[in-house]
This record gives sequence, C-alpha cells and structure tokens, in this order.
Amino acid sequence: MSHFPIFADLRDRAVLLAGAGKVAERKAQSLLDAGAKVRVVAKTLNFQFQKWADEGEIIWLGGEFCEEQLDDVFLITAATSDHAFNRRIFDAAEARGKLCNTVDTANLCSFIVPALVDRGPLKIAVSSGGTSPVLARKWRQIIETLVPLHTGRMAEIAGKWRSHIKSRIEGTENRRRFWENLFDSRFSALTAQGDTEAAETELTAQLENFAPTRGEVVLAGAGPGDAGLLTLHALQAVQAADAVFYDALVSDGIMAMVRKDAEKISVGKRAGLHHVQQEETNRLLVEYAQKGLRVVRLKGGDPFVFGRGGEEAQVLKQAGIPYRIIPGITAALGATAYAGIPLTHRGCAQSALFVTGHSKHDGSEPDWRTLALSKQTLVVYMGTLKAAEITEKLIAHGRSADTPVAVISNGTLPEQSVLSGRLKNLPELAEKAPRPALMVIGEVAALREELKWFGERGRT
Ligand code: SAH
Repeated sequence: MSHFPIFADLRDRAVLLAGAGKVAERKAQSLLDAGAKVRVVAKTLNFQFQKWADEGEIIWLGGEFCEEQLDDVFLITAATSDHAFNRRIFDAAEARGKLCNTVDTANLCSFIVPALVDRGPLKIAVSSGGTSPVLARKWRQIIETLVPLHTGRMAEIAGKWRSHIKSRIEGTENRRRFWENLFDSRFSALTAQGDTEAAETELTAQLENFAPTRGEVVLAGAGPGDAGLLTLHALQAVQAADAVFYDALVSDGIMAMVRKDAEKISVGKRAGLHHVQQEETNRLLVEYAQKGLRVVRLKGGDPFVFGRGGEEAQVLKQAGIPYRIIPGITAALGATAYAGIPLTHRGCAQSALFVTGHSKHDGSEPDWRTLALSKQTLVVYMGTLKAAEITEKLIAHGRSADTPVAVISNGTLPEQSVLSGRLKNLPELAEKAPRPALMVIGEVAALREELKWFGERGRT
C-alpha cells in the first residue's frame, strides 16, 4: 500500500468527529490545534468534550449520525469503540467521496495520520502506510532527537523573509544556495540562543554580501554498488547537486540518495564503443557548470580507476570550471572484500595489480611477464570478454594453470555472485558470469572458501 503524502490546511474548515471518549479526545485536540471547526457526533460527551462544548470550541451534533452531516465537512474522523458504527460512517464518507480516518482500523481509512516531529512550521511526518504504526513511531523518536528544537524558529524567520529574499536574489538556485548557507551559518546558533534580532541582523548581512556562485563539477566515486559504501563527501555532494550525470554502474540504491529535484542525466554505457558519448558528456559537464549549476559526475567505483575521471578533469581544467574529486571504493576493493578475498595476504600475495582487459587499440601489449608473476593478485576490470586470451597469455608467460581464480559479479550488491575455480577454467567461468564482473587471479582467490561471508547467512 502506498499513500500520497499531503499536509492539509484545516484552518476554519469543518471536520466531523464521531466519538467523544479518550481516543476521540486526542484526535479532537490535534484537529483543534490545526484550527479546524470540530463537529462531534456522540451520544454522551466526556468531561473534556463537555468543557469544549461549553466554551464553544466544538459543536456537538448529538448522538444520531445522518449522512447529510458529511455534506459540508472537509474530512471525517471516526473514533468510537463501535465498529459497526465506524463502518457506517466510513461507507457514507466513501459514497460521498470524503476523506475518512477510522482510528486503529486500517481498512476503514482513506487517509492516515502520520507520526509527527513538530517544529512549528517545520513538520516531519513519518508513516509506515498503515503497516506498522510502532515502526513509524520508533523512527519519529529517532528523528525527534536529530532535529534541533530551534528549527521551527528558523522556519518562522525564513517564512517572514521569504518574499523579500525572492525580490532581492534572482534565480531559484541562487536563493536555495542563500538559504542553505544561512541555515549552516551563525544564524542557526543565534536562533538557538533565542536571539531572533541578532539572527535577523545576520540574515540581512548575508543578504548584502550574497554573490551568486559559479558552477562547479564534482567528480565523485559512487563505490561498487552497496549504497553504504558511499563516502560522506559523495553523499553530501549528491544531496546538494543541481544536476547529476551518472553511468550505468551506479546502483539504484545510490541514485535514491540524490536530491529529489536534481536533474538526473544518464550517460550510461557498458563495454563497447562510446567515444562520441564521452565527448558529449564532457561537453554537457562544461555547459551545465557554466550555467552556474552544481554538477556531480557520479561514477561507479572510483572516478580515477578505469573511470575516465582524469580525462573529464582535464576538460574541466581547460574550460576553467572549478572542480573537486571525491574518491570512491573501487570495484577491486569492494567486490573482493564482499567476496571474502583479501587482495594481499601473507604468504600468498605481496602485491596486487589492477588491470583492464579492455585496453585501447593503440597497439601496445601489456607486459605479460609482469602480469604472470606468482605471489601477486591480478584484478582484471572489464575483462570477461577477453578471458580466453588473458588466460592463454598468462599461462604462456609462466603463471600456473592451477592458480586459483574468482569471477565476482555485481559485487557488494544483494545479487552478488561469485564463481571460483582455477586459471585454466577462467574462460568458462567468465562466460557464465553476469555483468559487471571482476576477475581475480591469484592464490588469494582460494581464501574465499574460508572467508566468504556476504550473502552466506544460513549457509555457514
Ligand atoms: N571506476 C570503476 C570501474 C569502471 S570499469 C571502479 O573504480 O570500480 C567497469 C568495470 O568495473 C566492470 O567491467 C567490472 O569489471 C568492474 N566493476 C564495477 N563494478 C563492479 C561490481 N559491482 N562488481 C564487479 N565488477 C565491477
């Protein structure tokens, strides 16, 4: 079940509440707090309801419910202990196309009320879509501790200044930057201390000094797939981005962390000819940054490991665009760790070499003698299509045909799979392996049998 989240403005709107006991009282209180005109259907009123009725806070319609009572109300809350009665109200609401919530009865609700973190105008709603209110409340408690109490006050001040700022700073992006800088500045501390006047002085000072910033490009590594392997810098960058250029290796879990209203541009590709596409990407990066946008070029793994990040940085440098580079966990580190294969291990491997199986057609041959040395781990990116040739060359240059190997597919993702074997079987393993896949050649590959852990629950 998926609900569409909205915050309703109930000020001066009529709401029908069925029931006038303890549970209804809580509902009535929050409806009154929201400024609703509460009409109550109930045979008897409890003490609090009676008081509200006497003070004119609510209108008591008596104990009889008739469907016409729904005609001019905005929404309905059924909070009686009589299930059949609640159902009658819900059915009547449905027939009239009115929103109805029945307390603690998920199937009699056309809207549900979320758990709320309330900071004045800033409200954070948490809902489990009716599946587990306890889980929603647990998360509300956690968020409650994360959002400082003065956040509401900051929102109030922002509300007061919003239209003025709009008239002074042109462009949504610039305004967003102004507010973000402000909320991260002394303004926050001053508001926390309750010194609204000083906070507003700070705001005006920052407004005077505000200069639209130039665009920049962040070349960020997204890691091999598991969103938990993103660095804090990369997370901050994608959450502040105006535009994110991402390639096919960036997982859905990571894309879910990108700022919602950022423009997301797929420059996806897998092994093959993509020279023109790369030039187009370079051109777009420059173009977007020149518009003053904060651009993130998000790449699988690390941008500087077989990621063409260097070429993109050169283009930016030549165009005079400011850039930053955020490293990521490259597949050779991430996929092997999740496969239980240490890249170096005493007695097995004193060094590790990362090579690409998809070398440029510039005629140069890799130094096979070096690649075939024993006691080292060879990690081959983009190599499954060339596995037969690589195997043949390594054996021809002295690597034992019985060297342990592993082919890791979709490393660090829930669908990770690993095929283990010996060098002589590498071509068959590589052919079977789903992509993206990384080939690991070396004695360390055999350690997986002992050290595997990821996705092994219940198997070990
Ligand atoms: N910049 C990336 C590498 C890009 S080249 C990095 O640092 O990881 C693309 C190759 O990386 C793929 O062909 C595959 O060999 C490897 N690769 C990337 N992600 C992978 C993953 N999750 N599992 C296995 N191999 C992966």
